[in-house]
Amino acid sequence: MRIFSGIQPTGRKHLGNHLGAIRQYVEGQDRGEAIYCIVDLHATTVPYDPAVLRERLYDTTAILLAAGLDPERCILFRQADLPEHTELCWLLCSVTALGELNRMHQFRDKSLAQRELVSAGLLFYPVLQAADVLAYRADEVPVGEDQREHLELMREIARRFNARFGGGDEVLVVPEHRIPEVGARVMDLQDPTRKMSTTGGTEEGTVYVLDDDATVAKKIRRAVTDSGTEIRRGPDKPGVTNLIEVLAATRRVSPDQVEGELADARGYGELKAAVAEAVVEELAPIRERYEQLRLDEGRLEEVLAAGAEKAQVIAADTLQDVRERMGVGPPG
Ligand code: ATP
Ligand code: MG
Repeated sequence: MRIFSGIQPTGRKHLGNHLGAIRQYVEGQDRGEAIYCIVDLHATTVPYDPAVLRERLYDTTAILLAAGLDPERCILFRQADLPEHTELCWLLCSVTALGELNRMHQFRDKSLAQRELVSAGLLFYPVLQAADVLAYRADEVPVGEDQREHLELMREIARRFNARFGGGDEVLVVPEHRIPEVGARVMDLQDPTRKMSTTGGTEEGTVYVLDDDATVAKKIRRAVTDSGTEIRRGPDKPGVTNLIEVLAATRRVSPDQVEGELADARGYGELKAAVAEAVVEELAPIRERYEQLRLDEGRLEEVLAAGAEKAQVIAADTLQDVRERMGVGPPG
């Protein structure tokens, strides 16, 4: 079983990335052949500073290693090290409908947030993402809830490619998504109707993996809650629901169990204290390992280079097959 996922090196990674994606990456190493990509090319689809992108790339690499990715047990690499991703993106454009790209929620949300230029890259983001995964013929893609739509499109692109060029063969594997039951959509603590986000959220409502203990606790203490005092989930209580789910995901228990335990609590203070304690306990050891790992950029480059070498063997094989099927380039 092959697992593939990508993560952006934009900004600092947050609790939503950790609970929705990174923790699944770590577990994936025990379940199959795990391949993880830091998608620097995706990060160029919104305004960014080239020098900062390089820094964030190392930050993200060190965060992933600190969270438990082990280069001996997974392939960890940087997207732009391999030309196969961009080439396959172009080739897959031939079986991608413009109308579908236009309808994607992420495109709609992110393009609205742009002040100067809505880049074509933002529109084509899901095609490059499809190329990332399909180049490895991955079976499973661990992601957060916000990526469900892109995964559906990716599956459609793979099916359409196979139907158009496969001649009856499954040239590209149609992958399954793996979205966690709890923690797949961590909401912004200051605006619990929006997902916690690297690029679009509020600073105070975003708990970063690298925030110090006091900052984590403060952000959680100041989380927007709802009227009333009852600790239960519900559509009328987005703030409290989010805190219950964060606590459940962090402790790896069900939200029902959290509600049961806090049934006698007086007010939201107790809930917030429990969340803060659990999140600090989860993130502090990662931050400590990060501080060490981040110091040695040479070592981080070595890890990425070794990963790219292994990844390329797989991706180049797929590309050769795809080119052949599509009749482009010299015949094989
Ligand atoms: P941006 O908001 O700029 O897209 P991001 O915070 O979504 O950034 P990504 O690198 O795009 O970060 O996402 C990495 C992974 O984290 C993806 O699998 C995504 O689904 C997951 N993820 C992102 N935000 C959340 C969230 N709030 N809760 C759970 N998972 C999330
Ligand atoms: Mg995202």
